[in-house]
Amino acid sequence: MSQSADPYFALIAPACIMLFGGLIAVCWWMQRKQLRSPFLLWLAAGYVLPAAALMAQSLMNDAQLGAAAPWTAVLYLSGGWCIANGMVLRIGGKGVSVLAGLLIGAATVSGLYYFSRVDDQLWIRVQILTLGMALQQLLAVRYMLTAKASADRLEKWVFWTYWINIAYALLRPVAVWLLPVQEVQEVTRSGYWLLTLALAVLFSLWFALGLLACCVRDMLDVLREERNRDPLTQLLNRRAFMECAQALMSDARQAPWVVVAADIDYFKQINDRWGHACGDQVLRELAQWLPRQVREKDLVARFGGEEFVLLLTGVQLQEAYVIVERMRENLHRHQFTMLPAGAALTLSFGLAPVINWESLESAMMQADALLYEAKNAGRDRVQALRGA
Ligand code: GH3
Ligand code: MG
Ligand code: MG
Repeated sequence: MSQSADPYFALIAPACIMLFGGLIAVCWWMQRKQLRSPFLLWLAAGYVLPAAALMAQSLMNDAQLGAAAPWTAVLYLSGGWCIANGMVLRIGGKGVSVLAGLLIGAATVSGLYYFSRVDDQLWIRVQILTLGMALQQLLAVRYMLTAKASADRLEKWVFWTYWINIAYALLRPVAVWLLPVQEVQEVTRSGYWLLTLALAVLFSLWFALGLLACCVRDMLDVLREERNRDPLTQLLNRRAFMECAQALMSDARQAPWVVVAADIDYFKQINDRWGHACGDQVLRELAQWLPRQVREKDLVARFGGEEFVLLLTGVQLQEAYVIVERMRENLHRHQFTMLPAGAALTLSFGLAPVINWESLESAMMQADALLYEAKNAGRDRVQALRGA
């Protein structure tokens, strides 16, 4: 590229990087209530800060570049540190060392200061800065090596592009060093140099793209969870229960099934005696207790109020009866934290076998009818189809 090339044209790359940083910041803003840590904000800063430096540099001549080198370097280096910090927070770590970041930053900026003010060497400055950036990003490596490998494809994409970014940042100075070009001006304006720069930008955008895809996926997961879960107990709601049941029952190897309708006995009295908040807490605790009584692939849902529905997989009605009877007895021994010692909470159950997905609705109606038989028979009992 010639020296007279339009400097504004050179603004395109930093503008793109800044835009990506902005997009990541928007993702953080939209997800900030669900996120465990503000890692997206750090990652956004990791894009915006170097982009601001690159933008300023695109508009400078060589003399100005030299004079501003230590200052633009601070932006680049902070950006590198922010990316490393964001990456570590993302995988559940506490962040990278501030002291190590400051030390790398101080060493790099001192080197840059020397090679801009004392001995003006553009070429050495470029090499020092690239190395400083790579070292800042390397700070995350210790945590990334110990992190549990994710099976998720998007997570893998983000993980590996981060590694590629670091490896490339370390290799780039070496590769450029080996070039046969001697003149400093020639190197920094050569097509080869611009290509290595373009590749660095491309890798970092590829990384950002993976991150944004992860954010969108996380947001959709949150929305799906909100749609499928009962807000009080976090159990499946009716809609999600039917969806999961349909998926489960499409596999005939999981047959046979038994549907269980359960309802708390005299729950109104709990509300009346100890308050609605206590009632809510009892529902939450029961919702944690119920899934522990069945196997992992069985479904547990809250259909509203104090009514729960379970789908037991791979059991005949008789086996299901034994399981639920044991559950009923176990409940007698469970001490609810919000209830005074000795205060009993009991459930009544109705059980009906299910042959296939098409008969689930009618089996649920049968289970419901049997539940009311259990209620009429005195409560705290299990009622199954006769003959069971
Ligand atoms: P039964 O043994 O016949 O089932 O008697 P019950 O009192 O459990 O049944 P009833 O249908 O008379 O009352 C159900 C009560 O459940 C009334 C309602 O206020 C309470 N309830 C429903 N949903 C919630 C909830 O989300 N939180 C709390 N705390 N109470 C709830
Ligand atoms: Mg009830
Ligand atoms: Mg009820």
